[in-house]
Amino acid sequence: MVILGDQLDRESPLFSGADPARDCIWMAEVREEATHVWSHKARIAVFLSAMRHFRDELRAQGWKVEYRELDERPASLAEELHGAIGRLRPERVRVVEPGEYRLEQSLRAVCPELDVLTDTHFLCTRQGFREYAKGRGQMRLEFFYREMRKRHGVLMDTVMTGKPEGGEWNYDAENRGAFGKKGPGLIPAASGPPPDLLTRQVIARVEEIFPGHPGQLRHFDLPVTPAEAEQVLEDFLSHRLPMFGEFQDAMWTDQPWLYHSRLSVALNLKLLHPRRAITAAEERYRAGKASLAAVEGFIRQILGWREFVRGLYWLHMPGYLEMNALGAQEKLPAFYWTGETEMRCLREVVGQTLEYGYAHHIQRLMVTGLFALLLGVRPRLVHEWYLAVYVDAVEWVELPNTIGMSQFGDGGIMGSKPYVASGKYIQRMSNYCAGCRYDPALSTGPKACPFTTLYWDFLMRHEERLRANPRMIMQVRNMDRLRPEQKALIQVQAESFRRSL
Ligand SMILES: Cc1cc2nc3c(=O)[nH]c(=O)nc-3n(C[C@H](O)[C@H](O)[C@H](O)COP(=O)(O)OP(=O)(O)OC[C@H]3O[C@@H](n4cnc5c(N)ncnc54)[C@H](O)[C@@H]3O)c2cc1C
Ligand code: SF4
Repeated sequence: MVILGDQLDRESPLFSGADPARDCIWMAEVREEATHVWSHKARIAVFLSAMRHFRDELRAQGWKVEYRELDERPASLAEELHGAIGRLRPERVRVVEPGEYRLEQSLRAVCPELDVLTDTHFLCTRQGFREYAKGRGQMRLEFFYREMRKRHGVLMDTVMTGKPEGGEWNYDAENRGAFGKKGPGLIPAASGPPPDLLTRQVIARVEEIFPGHPGQLRHFDLPVTPAEAEQVLEDFLSHRLPMFGEFQDAMWTDQPWLYHSRLSVALNLKLLHPRRAITAAEERYRAGKASLAAVEGFIRQILGWREFVRGLYWLHMPGYLEMNALGAQEKLPAFYWTGETEMRCLREVVGQTLEYGYAHHIQRLMVTGLFALLLGVRPRLVHEWYLAVYVDAVEWVELPNTIGMSQFGDGGIMGSKPYVASGKYIQRMSNYCAGCRYDPALSTGPKACPFTTLYWDFLMRHEERLRANPRMIMQVRNMDRLRPEQKALIQVQAESFRRSL
């Protein structure tokens, strides 16, 4: 039985019918998984520590676990599996569906008889999504999400059948609040479990083997066991869920988490089942401890977006990886790896990312993602950065979010329009612009905000395509109001900014 680093689930179908007296579990830490793209030190540490905790739990329960700890050898998981099959000579090799296309292909290549089991840690199976997609052209999250609510009986009206709780499916309009000039005030600290001995050993090992990797480990407080994942869930439900919806899109200096849950790592490593997070949040609503808008907003992310992006990933791989509908060819600016830039929003978000391996959704989408999109960076390079720097990065979820939602590389599979905005959006949703040397209202001149310059330049560069998209009509009309000489100046400024990076 093969268990991968993001499959640390004691309820996994792998265990059904398995017998500790007969079956052997195989797990391996390999360098390739941390180096095939660059990887944040905290990302490597959370995977390795959670794997070792899982190994120890299984052994304590009487399972024989063949476990290969990380060393300096540049082996891949598939090569290691090949060696283990030669040594152990199993009758059958079973694995649950991996979270990455590349990995599944390479495991199948070394073990053609591999028995790949359906992953029950998701609420929509790959096959189920494929069937849902049949006959549908462009799929939209909203309709998939409604289906999922009905199918799983989540936040449904308990009296009227088939109706959503509160009469509306979606309270997104109430979820776009900013903090205003006063700022967020006192926010309950989002502290995670402190590292135990095993985690501290892993941290030391990661520092030793991967000294040149991005990020650092001094704040490490990520969950590495199901019990710790429960603690993180409880901390969120009690202290931050009630305000989650309203300020979901807001950003503030030195406040990486605000009201967000920090549950993505626990969910992605399978330390916490999404059903558990959804049910627990719904219970808070039913008990009158959180509003419907807050709870619906949270549940939509997990039951809706999370399952939707996974479905799209498997539907469109392997082609998704190279999609580049806008023909973007620029390189990723070097400051994505250092945070050294005069643009304060990027300095804050990249800095926080390197510090904690974390940024919330709007920081990823509307700061780092938006800048790369406006600049015209090749989507695959943007994807490699996101996969490297976030502790929760696993390809099935990262790739559609990056290449699809954030870079519009998929030409509209994931979203109906590119998420583009000028620096004024960042000014409205954060306090970043207040301390920046640029002015978000200006598109030309020495104080022009690069986001604003590049925004108009983006609309001009892709005018033909955007004009044909009804959802872009307002933005295109605003561009039409620019005088020809203004447009020319913006284009010159955008080009010279691009070359200065
Ligand atoms: C460019 C880009 C790259 C991303 N890469 C990843 C990634 O590698 N791994 C990852 O788990 N998420 C990714 N996301 C989605 C989202 O940003 C993170 O899930 C979220 O920020 C994690 O923080 P949190 O747990 O505090 O989330 P919260 O804001 O508290 O949300 C609750 C949960 O909902 C789920 N969720 C929310 N938004 C999404 C989404 N768009 N897609 C899928 N699930 C979602 C997550 O499981 C999250 O834990 C990415 C988004 C963008 C725009
Ligand atoms: S002015 Fe522009 S570059 Fe500066 S923080 Fe605001 S959006 Fe970012």
